[in-house]
Amino acid sequence: MAQLTDDCFALGSTLLTVAEALAEIEARISPVVGTETVPLTAAAGRILARDVVATMNLPPHANSAVDGYAVAHGDLMADRETVLPVTGRAAAGHPLGRPVRRGEAIRIFTGAPMPDGTDTVMMQEDCIFEDQRVRLKPGIKKGANRRHAGEDIATGETALSAGRRLRAPDLGLAAALGREELCVFRPLRVGLLSTGDEVRDPGAPLPPGAIYDANRVMLAALLTGLGCMVSDFGIRPDREAALVDTLAAASADHDLIVTSGGVSTGEEDHVKTAIEQLGTLHFWRLAIRPGRPLALGQVRGVPLIGLPGNPVAVVVTFIVLGLPLILRLAGATPSAPRLFSVRAGFAYRKKVGRREYLRANLKWEGDAVVAVKYPSDGAGILSSIFRSDVLVILEEGVNALTVGTMVDFLPFSEVIP
Ligand code: AMP
Ligand code: MG
Repeated sequence: MAQLTDDCFALGSTLLTVAEALAEIEARISPVVGTETVPLTAAAGRILARDVVATMNLPPHANSAVDGYAVAHGDLMADRETVLPVTGRAAAGHPLGRPVRRGEAIRIFTGAPMPDGTDTVMMQEDCIFEDQRVRLKPGIKKGANRRHAGEDIATGETALSAGRRLRAPDLGLAAALGREELCVFRPLRVGLLSTGDEVRDPGAPLPPGAIYDANRVMLAALLTGLGCMVSDFGIRPDREAALVDTLAAASADHDLIVTSGGVSTGEEDHVKTAIEQLGTLHFWRLAIRPGRPLALGQVRGVPLIGLPGNPVAVVVTFIVLGLPLILRLAGATPSAPRLFSVRAGFAYRKKVGRREYLRANLKWEGDAVVAVKYPSDGAGILSSIFRSDVLVILEEGVNALTVGTMVDFLPFSEVIP
């Protein structure tokens, strides 16, 4: 199992662009979990730890793609119908079992191995069968309706690469290649807590000035969706001693600790000092909005991600940086999320030098789709997330957006599991 170096999050105090932060994550973060072998039936959503290299061809044998008649193309007349005797039968799971001589046609069904000596299959719809003979139309190409052995995956090819999150089709491929088990990373065990004297669990009474904890359940769902096993450490007050106890407990049998709140560089922010008692803490100052410094550290050797308190900032920082960071710790090789582009249906001004993630909806305007910005964009307005389809991304260099300009966007459905 790889361990993170103690200073892997140390970056000084420079303002990082998103691209720089992602490059740092790629360069410095390695898996913190070991591996295990699981049956295919338990592998969905897990992260592959070892390449799956094909030890056989897929398909294993050349076979027919249709129901029809297998022939040697050289037996067909180019300009008129050919009549051949039908001398055998090959069905899926029932090969012909002998080579075919020139001048024979073999009745064949989808998936049946191509008999030796044949190279082309004419669909039954294009043939007329009578008196044990088949009449074949002219004009078919050599090799038509034949699937080659190994045309999908060839022996020796890397079919699935380590670091991939396994989805249903990946498992289908592994099964088609005869694998019954896969080597995957152990799930990341995450200790999750919220911080704040004002924060209460839903269902509890709400004293004056208090709010319900939106972040913890949201983060638990996001983490579970990524395949993590989440332990709930509840809500901790803004007191150093309480935080130290909880963080020490969480570090005992977890691979990662995730917190929210208490990491702005303010007076009531005791997460920083608590973490420093048990390990190290660094702030990554990110040139993004919404989002504040992201706190990253280690508590007794266990990595910790300290997210902001505002729920919108939690979701955005989780998507932009938490996701690649957590996936890497869990052994995945995340690819950059796919961006799409659309015309802006709104005008906007922003500061140069930081990247902004605006919540927006895609709407039909006449015969074109445009992105319409959600009206309130405060970092605490959770409805700006759940009432929006996408994050519109305005790059660092943009200072004004005019209606009709093309903008990149990231659908929430692409990133929220
Ligand atoms: P902080 O980073 O602790 O200063 O929190 C920033 C803002 O987010 C404050 O308005 C907090 O009340 C709010 N906040 C912090 N934690 C949560 C939470 N778990 N759920 C909802 N809001 C929160
Ligand atoms: Mg707080």
